[in-house]
Formats: sequence, C-alpha cells, structure tokens
Amino acid sequence: MATVTSLDSRKKKAIEAGASSTPAPVDPPAARNMLRNLSPADGEPLTAVPVTTANEVRGAMQRAKRAQTAWARMPIEERAERILRFRDAIVDNADRLVDTLVRETGKPRNEALLHEVLVVADLAGYFAHNAKRILSHQDISLHFLVHRKSYVHYAPKGVIGVISPWNFPFAIPMGDVIPALLAGNAVIVKPSEVTPLIALEAKKIFDSTGLPEDLFQVIPGDGATGQALIEAGIQKLIFTGGVETGRRVAAACGAKLVPCVMELGGKAPLLALSDCDIERTARGIVYGGFCNSGQACISVERVYAHRAIHDPLVRRIRELVGDLKQGDASKSFIDIGAIIFPKQIDVAEALIADAVSKGAEIIAGGERVHRAGNYFQPTVLSECHHGMNVMREEIFGPIVPIQRVDSDEEAIALANDSHLGLNAYVFSKSRERALRVAEKIEAGSVVVNDVMLNYGACETPFGGIKESGFGRVHGDDSLREMCDKRHVNYGRMPMPSRDPLWFPYSSTSYKIFSKGLDVLFHGSGLVQRIAKRMP
Ligand code: NDP
Repeated sequence: MATVTSLDSRKKKAIEAGASSTPAPVDPPAARNMLRNLSPADGEPLTAVPVTTANEVRGAMQRAKRAQTAWARMPIEERAERILRFRDAIVDNADRLVDTLVRETGKPRNEALLHEVLVVADLAGYFAHNAKRILSHQDISLHFLVHRKSYVHYAPKGVIGVISPWNFPFAIPMGDVIPALLAGNAVIVKPSEVTPLIALEAKKIFDSTGLPEDLFQVIPGDGATGQALIEAGIQKLIFTGGVETGRRVAAACGAKLVPCVMELGGKAPLLALSDCDIERTARGIVYGGFCNSGQACISVERVYAHRAIHDPLVRRIRELVGDLKQGDASKSFIDIGAIIFPKQIDVAEALIADAVSKGAEIIAGGERVHRAGNYFQPTVLSECHHGMNVMREEIFGPIVPIQRVDSDEEAIALANDSHLGLNAYVFSKSRERALRVAEKIEAGSVVVNDVMLNYGACETPFGGIKESGFGRVHGDDSLREMCDKRHVNYGRMPMPSRDPLWFPYSSTSYKIFSKGLDVLFHGSGLVQRIAKRMP
C-alpha cells in the first residue's frame, strides 16, 4: 500500500498532529492522520483508522459527561440487565470478534476465543450479577464514638479513561470498561495505535444493543491522543502498558490529580522445585512461555529449575517445542501465531545475542521466521544467569530462558531479584511446600502448578507490585474503585443541644478528659478492650 509508513514515522507524525493544544474544527478526512497497520499474520494492509485529535477528544468527553448523568441515575439492577444484553451480543458475535483479532494480532483462533472473548463474557456476567452486592452500603462499627454510626456508600466517579496495549486488545480494555459502566460511569477507551480495529468492533456491538452511544466511546490514536484524554477532565484512568510509558502517564495524571491504576510490565518467574511433576511443569512452561507468542505481561519469562529435575525438564521442553505448529492463524489452527508489534522481533534477537555471548545455549528456536507477516521461532535458552539481560528485562516475545538452581531459597532469591513483580508460578507436588514458597515471592499474584489462568479468574485482584504498577483490576474491590467511596456518619440517638466536646473549653473539662484518657486508653483501658473485641 503506497501510504503505509513505518510505525515509528507514523507515530511521530501522529504525535505532532495530536499535540496541538489549539482547539480546531474536525479535520477533513483527506487531511487527517491515519493509523495504517499491516496484519502481523500475512503483512497485508488492514483498514486505516483516523487518529482522534485533541479537539475531538474534548468533544467525546463532553458527550460522555452528558450520557453519564442519565446512566448514573438508573438503578443498578437495570444497568446490570443492560450490561448482560451487551454480554450476550458479545457472545453472539464471537466469530466476528475472533476474525478481527486474528487479522489484527495474528494470534491463534483458540486464544482469541478463550483469552479474549470468553474472558470478557465471563467477567461481564460475574460483575453484572454481583454489582449490587459489591456496591451496597457498608456499615462501619465505631469502637470509641459508640453513640454514633457510620456507613460508606459508592457513587459513580463520572468519566473513566482507559488506555490499553496491543497484546490483549479486547480483553484488557473491555475488562475495565464493563465494571466502569456497571458502577455508573461513562468510559472512553484509547486503544493501542497498533490494534484499533478490535476496539471499534467492540464499540459497534455495544451500539447494536441500544445502550446510549456516548456512554462508551473509542478514540483511536497515538500517545498524544492518550495524553489528550488525561487532560480532557476524566475522573480516573486505568492504564495498561509498559513501565516507561507508565511513568509518563502517571506523571501526567499527577499533574491533573487524576487517580490512576497502573498495570505495567511483568517478568514472571516460574520456580520448578525438586519434587515437581516434570511432564506438567514442562507443558506449563511451553504454554506459559509461548501462548500469544509470549506477548503477555504474565508470560513465563524466566525459569528457575532445581538441579535434581533440570536436565529431564529441559529435554522434555525441547521435545514439546518441536511439536508446536507455527503459522498464519487466519488460514489454519496453529499453536503459535505472529508477533503483533514487529519491534519485538528486534528485542528478541538482541536478548538472545546477549545471552549467547554470555554462555547461554539455544535449546530450541532462536531465529526470526522469513515469511510474510511477523514471526519468531519459539525459543528456549538454557545455562542462563542473572548477568544476562534476558533474565532481567521484560522479553514480551517467545523466549524462555532457564537457570539451574540448588535450592528453594536460591530460586526465591533470584525470583525476587527483579524490578518487576506482577505474576509468578511455583511447580511442586507438595501443596504445603509450594504455598510456603509462593508467599515469599514478591509478586501481585502467584499461581501454583498452573500458568496464566489468574487473569481469567475475574473475582481475584490482578495487578503488580514494585515497578509492575499499582492499583488493581478485577476483584470486588476494583468495582468499588470505579466509584467515589463516600462516608456518612450519624447519631444513634437524639443529640444534646450543648455538646460537651464542643466550645467552651475549661480547666474542668480538661481535667475530666485527662482522667478519661488514663481510664479509657492506658494499658487494657475500656476503649482498648472494646477495640479488641470488634470484628
Ligand atoms: P505502551 O506503554 O507502549 O502503550 C500502552 C498504551 O499507552 C498505548 O495505547 C499507547 O498508545 C499509550 N501511550 C503511549 N504514550 C502515551 C502518553 N504519553 N500518554 C498516554 N498514553 C500513551 O505499551 P504497549 O502497547 O507496547 O504494551 C506492552 C506493554 O504493556 C508491556 O510492557 C506489557 O508488560 C504491558 N502490559 C501490562 C499488563 C498488565 O496488566 N500489567 C497487561 C498487558 C500488557 P500507542 O500505542 O499509540 O503508542
């Protein structure tokens, strides 16, 4: 296609255009900056999509605010009922969504269906059925001010912004959109410039269900579009992306005092303990390392294998990788699809070259695949150590590096020797031992004898510690976090006209309070005893 530009030059041009702070009329189509991507599956051009300008983002914001006011007034049961209709429409259109995902990302059809469409359908059902319970008033017992009572209630925030990456371009943004809507907010999504089409497809399905159009809007664009969204007056941002972008986005949110959730990178370790089931562990490593071509923040990114099982484990991994089918997911049912973002291939090559120069052995793969589209062989490296970049930097591609260790303690220390802490995996036949190890790992989630699946358990909190970010998506608290938590306090009984705690102060009242301090708070004073008995 004549107008296809490299992603970098397109990014630069689009950012220049979007960065203008002067409100401008909507650009005529011919003059607009466009997102022009090639399908990673076969290199063919995908539908071009206009970049949303800052002025248009502000317009979207105004419309979202108006739609949100009416939506927030609706009883939660009714909002839930409408979200279930949206869920049903997603299920009805599953094949269409899968087709778009496969074209736009090159991922296998099974993964598009299970990891994207099914995850969203399940999450929509769970939160729609539980929103009323999760967002109900919560009483707070007061241990000291016993003459009064408190409760908290949850009010929608307003307009929530969602900025999302390209690796799960349906599940990640929609997993934020649905709880935000249920909580009574409007939502504006800025999808990755690499994968705008699936977000637009989701928007079409949403509109087809009769839900108010402006309640959920999609603003395709680049970094500048994301920046414009933060500046447009959103009440909260859910950001998913890389650590460095996350720093810039968090700073922009800080400047506007916009609360944000930061879902950033991962470097998930898998600890194969000396008593692990070698077959299951090998299969877990191959699946967790290579599904979505390793482009998941919770991919298995490094393996610490105990010396006792290291050699048979590596042999089995090599055999299993040899059986994987790689290719164009739009043509057949393959296991390993394309690399969505071509730059990741350069990253993979650099990491492998660095590791090999420092003593790593290539057990499988190691090279880009020369065919139309973007492909890299599933690669396994052994004899790795923490002097290699591949053990320390996020890979985001189909590479699994393996290091031999001598003890659980060594594996834990190496797993924690990272600036990231999103997911981790422990494999052992002993549940007690695995849980003991799991609790020592610095990560937002640790999964025992399985991989990746916690993102699909939407009632559990998902998010990172360290530089993997802060805040959580999923879990009941994430729905509450889409709201302003408001506290109301009131008297249990009629209050006296003259309150002894208020003015005027006197030396007599001071003496009474001073004596009270000793009786009530010292040692096992009355208030302390009550506080201890509180639930
Ligand atoms: P990026 O950080 O490059 O981009 C994420 C999003 O931010 C994109 O929509 C991007 O737009 C947008 N953006 C870029 N610059 C700005 C800016 N200045 N202001 C506002 N928005 C901006 O991440 P990738 O898309 O490359 O995704 C890969 C990363 O995402 C990996 O590090 C991965 O670990 C992480 N990730 C984390 C997950 C988690 O839950 N913790 C889950 C999945 C991925 P554009 O695309 O146009 O540049």
